[in-house]
Amino acid sequence: MAPLYATIALFRALVTALAYAWSSPLGLIGLAVGGALHATGLGRATWQDGAQIVTVGGRLGAWFWNMGWAGFTVGWSMLLWLGSENARPSPVVIRHERRHVWHALVFGVLLWPLYLLGLALRGYRRNWFEVDARRAAGQPV
Ligand SMILES: [Zn+2]
Repeated sequence: MAPLYATIALFRALVTALAYAWSSPLGLIGLAVGGALHATGLGRATWQDGAQIVTVGGRLGAWFWNMGWAGFTVGWSMLLWLGSENARPSPVVIRHERRHVWHALVFGVLLWPLYLLGLALRGYRRNWFEVDARRAAGQPV
């Protein structure tokens, strides 16, 4: 019989693989958006800890930033808007958006309908997914 730690590592790898497969429709859309931003020079994409981080500066990043958006997550891709050329993504925003990546991994293709339902029933601020992401990021809930 395999040692317990090996069994746990195997189980964890299996669950992770299933989560990425389950969320792949959203994940692939996010990778396409992030890849397009990177390919056109509008953003800079990297892969870190199981998610794509896309920093978007320039006029596009500043436009989203000035609209009050610090970040946006599509599947496994976090789009982080930078308000100025020297700006760096906030660790709090990264933690918030990374929680939305986790939402995608857990809820898969059901995330967008559930998110929209939360938006319709509770609005943006009280949406279950936003409350959870703010809590995970240590932001005021
Ligand atoms: Zn959010």
